[in-house]
Amino acid sequence: MTASAEGGERAWVLHRYPYRDTSLILELFTRENGRLGVVARGGRRPRSAFAALEAGRSLWVHWRGRGDLATLLQAEEQGEVLDFAGMKGLILFYLNELLLRLTQRGDPLPELFDIYEQTLQSVALSGRQIWALRRFERRLLEVLGWAPELKVCYHCGRHLSGEDAGTWYYWPEHGVLCPDHRPAPGTIAIPAGALRWLAGDMADGPRSAWLPDLRRCLERELRGHLSARPLESHRLLAAYLARAGQDSYQRSKG
Ligand SMILES: [Zn+2]
Repeated sequence: MTASAEGGERAWVLHRYPYRDTSLILELFTRENGRLGVVARGGRRPRSAFAALEAGRSLWVHWRGRGDLATLLQAEEQGEVLDFAGMKGLILFYLNELLLRLTQRGDPLPELFDIYEQTLQSVALSGRQIWALRRFERRLLEVLGWAPELKVCYHCGRHLSGEDAGTWYYWPEHGVLCPDHRPAPGTIAIPAGALRWLAGDMADGPRSAWLPDLRRCLERELRGHLSARPLESHRLLAAYLARAGQDSYQRSKG
């Protein structure tokens, strides 16, 4: 297969690694062509135009290619450089890891591209909109065809109404159960309001009390698709939080 975007297209860098003596391989997420591996020739030379390309940079790229690896012809940075210092960098790494692990090269996902971009902006600009990650995870599942039905009980077909204030159960890879059933093993109790939020447009943040349940549901759902290998970003995040806890403990002693 020969393909190209010599006219250019929008892209984000998901990952970079060295290639041969002086080159780089960049894993890009492009709007029109999905995930794409490109060789940036000479990209590790200090004066190369490609030297600064790294995760979290928004680009306009021109490339040409055949087979699995295309050649990057040109890359221009777009817009302001977003700040991914500290914890925000770990979140960026997490989002990129999900895309690298769960999407295929050459599968165009423009809708997911847009929500990815929106999520990066939320994270970089406020750093507090953790719920934007939940929205990204749910949209990712939807786009890949793995999102369970949330508005109808898996057992009895009862609809989740706008007035429902009870506790429902999220059942990963199946759907949801209404309060009329005994929770099956592996289900997660979740307020009806939180489910309505997850099933809706998620334009605004949910109640903060719902966040732990939402995180648990989505994490379990994603885990079913990630094979046995745990996410590297989860390990790094745990180490980061442990270190942050230790620092504040030492500060409180000192
Ligand atoms: Zn039911």
